[in-house]
Amino acid sequence: MTALQIHQFPCLGDNYGYLVHDPDSGLTATIDSPDPGAIRHALDGHGWKLDYILNTHHHEDHAGGNLALKASTGCTIVGARADAERIPGIDIFVSEGDSFTLGKHTARIIETPGHTRAHICYLFEADRVAFVGDTLFSMGCGRLFEGTPAQMWTSLQKVMQLPDETKIFCAHEYTQSNGRFALTMEPDNPALLARMREVAALRAAGQPTVPSTLGTEKATNPFLRPASTELRATLGLAAATDTEVFAETRKRKDQF
Ligand code: ZN
Ligand code: FE
Repeated sequence: MTALQIHQFPCLGDNYGYLVHDPDSGLTATIDSPDPGAIRHALDGHGWKLDYILNTHHHEDHAGGNLALKASTGCTIVGARADAERIPGIDIFVSEGDSFTLGKHTARIIETPGHTRAHICYLFEADRVAFVGDTLFSMGCGRLFEGTPAQMWTSLQKVMQLPDETKIFCAHEYTQSNGRFALTMEPDNPALLARMREVAALRAAGQPTVPSTLGTEKATNPFLRPASTELRATLGLAAATDTEVFAETRKRKDQF
């Protein structure tokens, strides 16, 4: 089985678009439909035809291009059954534990409510690749527009079950500003300090900081680190539950 090819491109300001191509079957999927023009341009550049849109959630910068792309390519749209009324044009409805296959590459679908109530992630586990939409960002996580902190922490823990080397493909380049907040939470975290130097160098060179790996996120992302003694000391929550620490971290980030 040949490895998946992943083409990543910036669009709409700070979104990332992703084309996922299986060379064996010739099948191609886009993760979300942030910008149909940019997606068509990327497809043309590779000589690929669009077979699927894999939606993570209903927001305009993720599903807004669904119908235009479907009209121009005839692609099939995969999305959360729980959000059927908000995601345009779904053909294949998925829920927790379902899988989607691109050729012989299988993605397990997990429901990750929090950012929205029906957000899902696509985990290509054998490929060590996870598309996490607006659930997990490098050194950050999605805002809780429709979910509780407890729901989001449960969702993030599902992603944390993956192997550390798993590449985390998130939907936005928010890394540097997330990292500035992370440093206020854990100013002495050596992994965080090292990642911030790496991120600064990448951004200065005009390079993406995404994907990162789950191992890097576990070491640097305050939203995955409610057990951290330093984070708890910053928040004055030494004896709180992980959910309480997560909730307070999210609240501080909203005010940052
Ligand atoms: Zn969103
Ligand atoms: Fe988004």
